[in-house]
Amino acid sequence: MNASLSVIVPCFNEEEVISESYHRLKKVLEQLPLFSQIIFVNDGSIDGTEKILSEIAHADKTVKVISFSRNFGHQNAVTAGLNYCLTDLAVVIDADLQDPPELIPAMIDTLEKNNAQVVYCVRKHRKGERFFKRISAKFFYRFLNFFSEVRLPVDTGDFRLVDKSVIREFNKLHEKGKYIRGLIVWLGFKQVPFYYEREPRFAGETKYPFSKMMKLATTSLLYFSKKPLKIASYMGFFSVIIALLLALWAIFGKFFGFTNADPGWTSLMVAVVFFGGVQLLTVGILGAYIGNLFDEIKDRPEYVIKEMMNFEAENSAKAGDDGIGLQNK
Ligand code: UDP
Ligand code: MG
Repeated sequence: MNASLSVIVPCFNEEEVISESYHRLKKVLEQLPLFSQIIFVNDGSIDGTEKILSEIAHADKTVKVISFSRNFGHQNAVTAGLNYCLTDLAVVIDADLQDPPELIPAMIDTLEKNNAQVVYCVRKHRKGERFFKRISAKFFYRFLNFFSEVRLPVDTGDFRLVDKSVIREFNKLHEKGKYIRGLIVWLGFKQVPFYYEREPRFAGETKYPFSKMMKLATTSLLYFSKKPLKIASYMGFFSVIIALLLALWAIFGKFFGFTNADPGWTSLMVAVVFFGGVQLLTVGILGAYIGNLFDEIKDRPEYVIKEMMNFEAENSAKAGDDGIGLQNK
């Protein structure tokens, strides 16, 4: 029987939504027959989020706050929440109420009925999101699956419920570039889908601009697939064949007079541009993997904590009072 639940809410500049999120979550959690807490992870917000969170945490001791020293990114914020939750269950949910908190009881039900360890929420529709975001997300998840060595469920974000065996194993993962939804699939255990309608953002703008979306996409691609490297070598192979054919054509043509090679500016340019492109592309792919190796080898923590609120009751060895994540202990 699961007896305790943490709700992990990463927030970056969410002053417009945070109070509403808290109230809606609180209402849902109060009706659950288990001990529950909310862990807000303030990912280096520069607006009023920190102040609002500290007011909430002062008034309600079941609300914990982890504040980062700067913006480390959504995946790192969720990681911190999972590192510091000591409960039987954890739900990861966005602060902007796109994922309705009211679904949490049904998710727990689904977990228990199926005897599962993960309930992942699949978006049936995305309301109020721009056409570009919808199309790019749809395309991205399918594209990623083509490359990935792990079968990743499509149209799934980080909104999910996990139990303590998944939390425990997740916290043992050492890689710094985390694509959490992929890692949870990789961990295995019994995982069941939960279909829901994604609501529009309650207020404010998306905190996932194109640059952050690209970063997440590259992390997922590079950490879950070696196919780009294979494709690079296929391209190399393909261009060598073309080069050989071109060489044969040029040499025999010269001898037997069926090419008029002297004025061959066009063919020369095509060959130079083609092989130059293939080389740059393959070097770029290699570079992307090497860059990740470089980041992993440096072994810097995934986040730096500036302040923690309402963690006093817990074992400080677990609550990490030196500001470095659990994974480094
Ligand atoms: N977020 C974060 N750090 C970031 C960017 C976003 O913690 O650097 C949080 C954000 O506050 C929200 C969640 O991640 O709770 C999802 O972000 P958002 O709703 O802006 O993304 P979208 O739903 O537009 O993809
Ligand atoms: Mg959102």
